[in-house]
Amino acid sequence: MKRRIAIVGAGAAGFFTAIHAASENTEVQLFEKSNKVLAKVRISGGGRCNLLHHCPYPNELIKAYPRGGKSLKKAFGQFAYQESRSWFEAKGLALKVEEDERVFPQSNSSQSVIDVLEKAAAEAQVKVILQKELKRLEVLEEGYRLHFRGDESENFDAVVLALGGQAKLKGFDFLKDLNLKIVPPVPSLFTFNVPDSPLKELQGLSVPSARVQIPGSNWKQEGPLLITHWGFSGPAVLKLSAWQARDFHEMDYKFPILINWLNRSEEEVRGALNEHLDSQPARTVANSRCFDLATRLWRALLHLAQIPGDKHNRDLSKKERNRLIEYLVRSPFQVNGKTTFKEEFVTAGGIDLQEIDLSSYQLKSYPKLFAVGEMVNVDGITGGYNFQHAWTSAYLAGKAITER
Ligand SMILES: Cc1cc2nc3c(=O)[nH]c(=O)nc-3n(C[C@H](O)[C@H](O)[C@H](O)COP(=O)(O)OP(=O)(O)OC[C@H]3O[C@@H](n4cnc5c(N)ncnc54)[C@H](O)[C@@H]3O)c2cc1C
Repeated sequence: MKRRIAIVGAGAAGFFTAIHAASENTEVQLFEKSNKVLAKVRISGGGRCNLLHHCPYPNELIKAYPRGGKSLKKAFGQFAYQESRSWFEAKGLALKVEEDERVFPQSNSSQSVIDVLEKAAAEAQVKVILQKELKRLEVLEEGYRLHFRGDESENFDAVVLALGGQAKLKGFDFLKDLNLKIVPPVPSLFTFNVPDSPLKELQGLSVPSARVQIPGSNWKQEGPLLITHWGFSGPAVLKLSAWQARDFHEMDYKFPILINWLNRSEEEVRGALNEHLDSQPARTVANSRCFDLATRLWRALLHLAQIPGDKHNRDLSKKERNRLIEYLVRSPFQVNGKTTFKEEFVTAGGIDLQEIDLSSYQLKSYPKLFAVGEMVNVDGITGGYNFQHAWTSAYLAGKAITER
């Protein structure tokens, strides 16, 4: 008789597990509470699906996971970028690596990724059952009983939980009887709201390399920074939101930030600025833009530093120069609230990694029960890392099921 396998959640992780768990000896059923599969894959990466990050070395890859990190070494050692990429390409999906190392389908459409996953699941004879919501999981002497909405229940030999990130701890209530340690979920990958930002009019302007830091801490990240009509966005902000997701949650998303617009040290900026201004003493400071900063930003910083733009460089006092340097390397702003990033958004938290054997994603205390994808306490920074963990965890769980 075939072993009955239930996979709950038809997202990236659930689909990929189902495909890899299917074999001659297994009957795989994939349950989804909504009426559509792979909904997040469809909207991901602005509709283009950034399905991987070009990072062939597991030791490097682990550095992109604020939750997970080193504990993912073993998992990524078995199945990571190269293996995922080869799998998709072997299924006929043409991929491209963009300048910032993010990997997308060549078609620029998430539909191509969905097509590949759906075709592979159909070939593996995975049975997809929509509008079936898991409400409770019961541990039997042999296997598990799944209780669905509407008083339906069924027994299975093995179960894979792939329900994705839960907004609240309550989302894990269906596991209550199992006494698992759950790390309370909080949002990650968000942008900063600065309601009183004096730079709102510069919305849309980006700087290629800035440093954003939280004063009085060693929390800082660097990279491109984007000025938005609500505050700040861009990779530097998103990375900081991911690494400090829990800290910012505790601070109720109210904290000061300092922006170094040049990502250079104060000494370097002082030297280069003085040399630049002294080399053209008769010019007005408004027309003496330095460091390739956009003119609009340069003038806004002069305004913040209370330096009249029509002053000649030779007339700038030492105090004025010091104030300008201060704004170039430490412009202060007050964050008050967050906005979730349209292109990517994840939950930090989930089933504690101590509960999971990360070589198979099987729960240590519950044989033949697996948890994969965003349900577990792993999340990456933006750029394809979250799907990478979905593919990795799903492949390992699927393989453990077929090898059993
Ligand atoms: C707008 C957006 C864009 C993103 N873009 C990217 C990107 O470009 N690159 C990247 O790496 N990451 C991206 N992410 C993150 C990525 O989408 C997720 O990390 C990934 O989808 C997680 O996969 P998953 O299968 O674990 O969970 P999900 O994709 O969330 O799938 C879980 C599934 O389980 C179902 N489910 C939940 N509860 C139940 C239940 N009780 N019973 C039955 N079914 C249930 C859900 O309906 C859902 O279909 C993005 C996220 C968002 C929100």
